[in-house]
Amino acid sequence: MSDAVRNYVAGRWQDPSGTDTLSVTNPASGAELGRLVLSTSADVDAAVRAGREAYPMWRSTPAPERARVLFRLRQLLVDHKEELARLLTTEHGKVLPETRGEVQRGIENVEHASGIPTLMMGDTVEEIASGIDCASWRQPLGVFGIITPYNFPVMIPLWFWPYAIATGNTVVLKPSEQDPLTHQRIVELAEEAGLPAGVLNVVHGARECVEAICDHPDIVGVSFVGSSRVAEIVYRRATATGKRVQALGGAKNYMIVLPDADMQLAAEACAGSIFGSTGQRCLAGSVVVGVGPAHREIRERMLDAAGSIRLGDGLEDTTDMGPVISAAHRDRVRGFIDQGEADGAKLSLDGRGASVSGLEGGYWIGPTVFEDVSAEISIATEEVFGPVAGINRARDLDEAVAMMQASRYGNACSIFTTSGKAARDFRYRAGISMIGVNVGVAAPMAFFPFGGSKASFYGDLKAQGRDAVSFFTDQRVVISRW
Ligand code: NAD
Repeated sequence: MSDAVRNYVAGRWQDPSGTDTLSVTNPASGAELGRLVLSTSADVDAAVRAGREAYPMWRSTPAPERARVLFRLRQLLVDHKEELARLLTTEHGKVLPETRGEVQRGIENVEHASGIPTLMMGDTVEEIASGIDCASWRQPLGVFGIITPYNFPVMIPLWFWPYAIATGNTVVLKPSEQDPLTHQRIVELAEEAGLPAGVLNVVHGARECVEAICDHPDIVGVSFVGSSRVAEIVYRRATATGKRVQALGGAKNYMIVLPDADMQLAAEACAGSIFGSTGQRCLAGSVVVGVGPAHREIRERMLDAAGSIRLGDGLEDTTDMGPVISAAHRDRVRGFIDQGEADGAKLSLDGRGASVSGLEGGYWIGPTVFEDVSAEISIATEEVFGPVAGINRARDLDEAVAMMQASRYGNACSIFTTSGKAARDFRYRAGISMIGVNVGVAAPMAFFPFGGSKASFYGDLKAQGRDAVSFFTDQRVVISRW
């Protein structure tokens, strides 16, 4: 029996049928916030059935009416923004300005999906041959599975399900089992907004649920966000049963600083990118490369910035950086730092011993800086997903770009320069999907595609915007002669 986390299937809140349980904790204190019972494949099956049953009714609900439910949800999210942000800080750990920003990004996706009558329009061409016209319609496909990670538990589900339902599909959402409470509140608000039973179904759980979603014959497509290891598993497993899949994975993002950069701006942007959200962002910078004389200056400023960050409870105004999500993740990040040191990288700032007085049960890891990290060691090649910076030097932009391109990931990157030519050259050849020019976190807004390349992305259509509309619909083309 779960205290706080329940499945939502066919418009009813119900306990999962499994027996294994997990504790949802406040990462700043370690205090338990609720217990989650892991759902089984039978629970997934029940949710898919609910989605299938609701699909004909929802598909034939006019698009403007579907959009109106999202308009109402949008207003409820705005009205409850502060409540949602505080709850999110409590279960995730990131500081309030960050959780307010995350809720805002989620709202923007609901706003964008509310434009579905326009976004879903097809094309027509008259007289493609004598007396023959051609037209295309976008149609929904059925029940979609959506599987999301712990690091943006409000925003990332909203990259997908508002578009999936706006286009007339129904959904089975499997949120992260580590911080499911805030999105549960959002689903309550969706219910209050008048979303009919069975259109959005939520199943809480872990691997068994994910595998059941990938294998289920009545699910037509899967949207996934998480680590590259699981993204690849989900992509292979779900496409093997004929589903369309978009699977967003991990990252190792480079930030290149040229000698002509505004160094103050570059240092603030790099530090904000690396240490913001305690490094738990797929867009977080990981390696700063100072080119030529930029290296000495950016290095000093980065070390100053990292050394002045105040750790604490994200609900307090005085906190710059919260904890990481769990004790297991803290230990994993510490393990990367141990290994980096053992591999000979210079450890200039060590966050392993961090603690916060009065919050000794929290999952703390302080800002950490490595320098002169050689290319082949794990601190250089693996996604750490914690507040750990690498600072390297390059002779010129070519060498910096070569370092960046040696990574197997291709999510995001940034360049800091006052030269339009250098920035243009970088954009042209970066080969990476989300590019910041004098911007540390290159996060596309709701109306642009969000997703990476190389091992950061499996699939073709990305999250948000027009790609989302394409992913959740098929184009039916009609050629007519009368
Ligand atoms: P994760 O891969 O551990 O979990 C993601 C989802 O997969 C969760 O719902 C989880 O229950 C499920 N899962 C975990 N292990 C599984 C397994 N063995 N088999 C089947 N399902 C499994 O990721 P996380 O730790 O929750 O999130 C952090 C990761 O997500 C980082 O790698 C980060 O870069 C990535 N991420 C990527 C983006 C992007 O846009 N590319 C955005 C946010 C997060």
